[in-house]
Amino acid sequence: MDRKDLANLIFPDVKDYTYYEEKYTKRDLPEGAQVLRYAPSPTGFVHIGGLYQSLIAKKIAKQTGGIFYVRIEDTDQKREIENGASQILQALKDYDVFPDETINIDGSDNGNYGPYMQSKRKDIYQSYAKKLLEEGNAYPCFCSPEELDKIRGDQEKAKERTGYYGKWTKCRNMPIDMAIEKIKNGDSYIVRFKSPGNPDKKIKHKDVIKGSIEFPENDQDIVIIKSDGLPTYHFAHAIDDHLMGTTIVTRGDEWVASIPLHLQLFYVLGFRAPKYAHNAPLMKIDGDSKRKLSKRKDPEAAVSYYKEEGIPKQSVKEYLMNIANSNFEIWRKQNPEKSMNKFEFDIKKMGVSGALFDMVKMLDVSKNVISKYTAEEVYNQSYEWAKEYDKELLEMLENKEYSLKVLGIERGNNKPRKDIAKWSDVKDIIYYMYPEKFNKNEQFEYQKVNEKSEIEKIVKLYFEKYYNESDDKQTWFDKMKDLAEELGYAREVKEYKANPENYKGHVGDISTVIRITITGRCNTPDLYEIMQVLGKDELMKRI
Ligand code: GLU
Repeated sequence: MDRKDLANLIFPDVKDYTYYEEKYTKRDLPEGAQVLRYAPSPTGFVHIGGLYQSLIAKKIAKQTGGIFYVRIEDTDQKREIENGASQILQALKDYDVFPDETINIDGSDNGNYGPYMQSKRKDIYQSYAKKLLEEGNAYPCFCSPEELDKIRGDQEKAKERTGYYGKWTKCRNMPIDMAIEKIKNGDSYIVRFKSPGNPDKKIKHKDVIKGSIEFPENDQDIVIIKSDGLPTYHFAHAIDDHLMGTTIVTRGDEWVASIPLHLQLFYVLGFRAPKYAHNAPLMKIDGDSKRKLSKRKDPEAAVSYYKEEGIPKQSVKEYLMNIANSNFEIWRKQNPEKSMNKFEFDIKKMGVSGALFDMVKMLDVSKNVISKYTAEEVYNQSYEWAKEYDKELLEMLENKEYSLKVLGIERGNNKPRKDIAKWSDVKDIIYYMYPEKFNKNEQFEYQKVNEKSEIEKIVKLYFEKYYNESDDKQTWFDKMKDLAEELGYAREVKEYKANPENYKGHVGDISTVIRITITGRCNTPDLYEIMQVLGKDELMKRI
């Protein structure tokens, strides 16, 4: 009995690995094209970090004329949830970062390198495990959980590294006949990798983001095939990234410690290793310290949060790009009108330590993004959001013609309004513009000029003598100054500042009184435009 017999006994029906080597031919791509993937486990929560990774991977693929694919890593069936994969893919679709190849939302494959779901690749992994068994680079291990616990306990007592390595590998040198007999006997087992490593030796790894790192060689005989016949992540990713032609593995830096093992697996399997780019996790300031954005503690960790809040997808993507490459912000300033796709992303510029994810900054970016939208775009997106999340706003927006006028105030010019960061802001921002809503939540807190008689005087005189609905903006403004002058206020702020004792105030104080009277607020977009949209009849009612 030899290794071949053992391999045949364990995997009697699998194809020879050469079948897969021939089936998945090298990708025919232009020189320099990169193949990247996002490889989530479908645990039922679409993390913003996943969108971040996909955005980066897709960007590099597009920039180099390569491929971005998504592989669902569902070999840990205990952690998996129903529809986990389709939720991830739907989110990528919504954000327009859908991969070139993956499983379709209905579960079928789209691409020539599939299946793109690991649980459907069992035979492939087993073929390669069989190859390793035949070569003596893998072996069956019969240690029970109790035995493994005992080994761990002994290691802890002896203050040695834990794991299955070196002198602790009980089954590594088991005679083949004995192993065959045990299997025939029905003893349960798993398959382990026989690591050729020596931890006294070092390996050098050049990470695309982190630069050169040195590690001791791996000597752990890790499990490659579990008792359910499915592979472990380590083994599966090596085979998949090889057969699917990945050129750069972009993944979270929690995996960087696995590099010695992964490079060793590639080597022993006879594969050329891809490049690795380990990116830092998204971090958040919590009190005085930084911590990882947490699925449990931070609502903004879920991609669904942005939809609920009504933060446009473009804002989320722009902000993520901002985090990924700090030069994006400057590029955006210099190219305010260009599509984000035109930005040259440089993976080497990604930060080595945790990237700060800051909602305040995200909303700031979003204000800029929305400020460039037309009234029609703002209308359509708020309407879509309101349909799902805000009945009252939806009712307000039903009057489309009027709403477009309201949303068009201070928009489309070269200094557009920047007060909307998310669709859930819209209702409050435009509330007073709707006659049936006005007065309902306005506070009417007058500012500097707050004496009732003075307010009345200003409003009365303005509407009796100066206001004319058909005035253009300049005339309107000049009249505001005339009114100021007539009532003892300075025409210009400058004049007032030079000699405050000569005036009751300045033209700004006068327009603030008018503004508060007709809107209930002291901060609004352009008052002239507001008055135009409200129209004379409504203004008369309000005063
Ligand atoms: N399935 C692994 C995870 O979700 C992927 C790691 C990788 O990208 O290789 O963390």
